Amino acid sequence: MSNIQNDLVLFNELVEELLNEEQQHPVADRIEADELYSAIDLKLNDSAMIDDDFKSLLRDVLVSTPKTATHLFFNQLFGGRQSKAILGDLLAVMLNNSMYTYKVAGPQVGIEQEIIRQSCNLIGYGPQSNGTIPTGGSMSNYMALVMGRDVKDPDCRAEGVRKPLIAYTSKESHYSNAKNVSFAGMGRNNLRFIPADSLGRMIPEKLEEQIKQDIADGYIPTYVNATAGTTVLGAFDPIDKIADITEKYDIWLHVDGAYCGSVIFSEKYKHLLKGVERSNSFSYNAHKMIGTPLTCSVILVRDKKHLYNSFSNDADYLYQTDGDDFNLGKTSFQCGRRNDALKFWTLWKSVGTSGLKKIVDQQFYLADVAREYVRNHPDYTLYSFDDSISICFNYKDIDPTVLCTALYEHQVTVVGFGSFNEDTFVRLVTINANNSKEDLLNFFKVLEDFVANNPEAVR
Ligand SMILES: *Cc1c(COP(=O)(O)O)cnc(C)c1O
Repeated sequence: MSNIQNDLVLFNELVEELLNEEQQHPVADRIEADELYSAIDLKLNDSAMIDDDFKSLLRDVLVSTPKTATHLFFNQLFGGRQSKAILGDLLAVMLNNSMYTYKVAGPQVGIEQEIIRQSCNLIGYGPQSNGTIPTGGSMSNYMALVMGRDVKDPDCRAEGVRKPLIAYTSKESHYSNAKNVSFAGMGRNNLRFIPADSLGRMIPEKLEEQIKQDIADGYIPTYVNATAGTTVLGAFDPIDKIADITEKYDIWLHVDGAYCGSVIFSEKYKHLLKGVERSNSFSYNAHKMIGTPLTCSVILVRDKKHLYNSFSNDADYLYQTDGDDFNLGKTSFQCGRRNDALKFWTLWKSVGTSGLKKIVDQQFYLADVAREYVRNHPDYTLYSFDDSISICFNYKDIDPTVLCTALYEHQVTVVGFGSFNEDTFVRLVTINANNSKEDLLNFFKVLEDFVANNPEAVR
């Protein structure tokens, strides 16, 4: 039989081993997908497992799981560990509250609300603003779309969507936009992809042209998604110019800052979000630039009444005490909701807002280091731009898809590739603020050494 104290001792042992393992082997031993079930005993059985076997199985699973916290993981828009956030998340697991009512979550409600209040202040939303912490950036975008839809066509809540409602986003935006219009009943064919300029930013003039055309054709422009940090290039759509248009035509403006919205914490880079206070909603993922464990996505709404209009439902079995401001279930999508606030709060509380600023600025610093390296080395071609933490490049004339796969299969470093217009390239993401300049330079070194020593692997 298990007992929590013993399991916590085991937990500490396993974590100790994992940290050592990360030092020794920063890239996990890869198991071929078609060998997975024969390589590790993942099968669930009728009989119990004896403790020693269980322990050693857990060890096997840990060492062969991709290591996202090491200095050689650059694959995705998250990485590294902020230890105070880990502490908070572990405590959240022990407490195991659900965030729907004050009765069940108590001070955790205030913790979430404080994060939301401070975030609203940082972007210049006024006293009517509020927000919630959904399951991720895709869900944040979905909630924003539903609010925009309900504002334009309030009857659709009861009757279903019957009007030709149109949404707009740049062709460089996140794929959740396409899924969300179908979930929201608006239909994928009613999402317009607006062209981007040579730096990957939505072209406002093209947006307005499309809106005028749609109005002329009898459609109803409803929702515009602007992106703060596009998934491939890390580009920032020009919010002020887009807001001129959404205000003129009375359209909901959402700013998807899942990737880089955390620049709100940086004096130096928050200008990239200029005009965000004019949006109707804004979201950012603290599990990306801030480095909390997955997931921690914050959506803010300039006027909180829209959150209530679209997401509240009475439920006598649930809302038995305290006011709406403390019963967060009235503004969330889910019923039971994980406490994703505590990990962000423990980090923010311990390092302060100035500490979060350092975390963000460090990523831009590392990006500068990487871009400089690429620019100064003739074997490289750069495809991305300043003010982005995605560094897109090619090395020699090696196919980036081949290169990334070879680096991964040989356990050298984990990095991905992306495309913009006609070009495909390696996309290095400097989102792990624990990395140093040396770690970035080491990335290029291991890449170059690998290519020099394994010419056949990248042919
Ligand atoms: C990551 C990302 C999302 C999706 O966020 P999830 O938390 O992964 O659902 C949405 N938009 C952009 C721009 C992103 O980079």
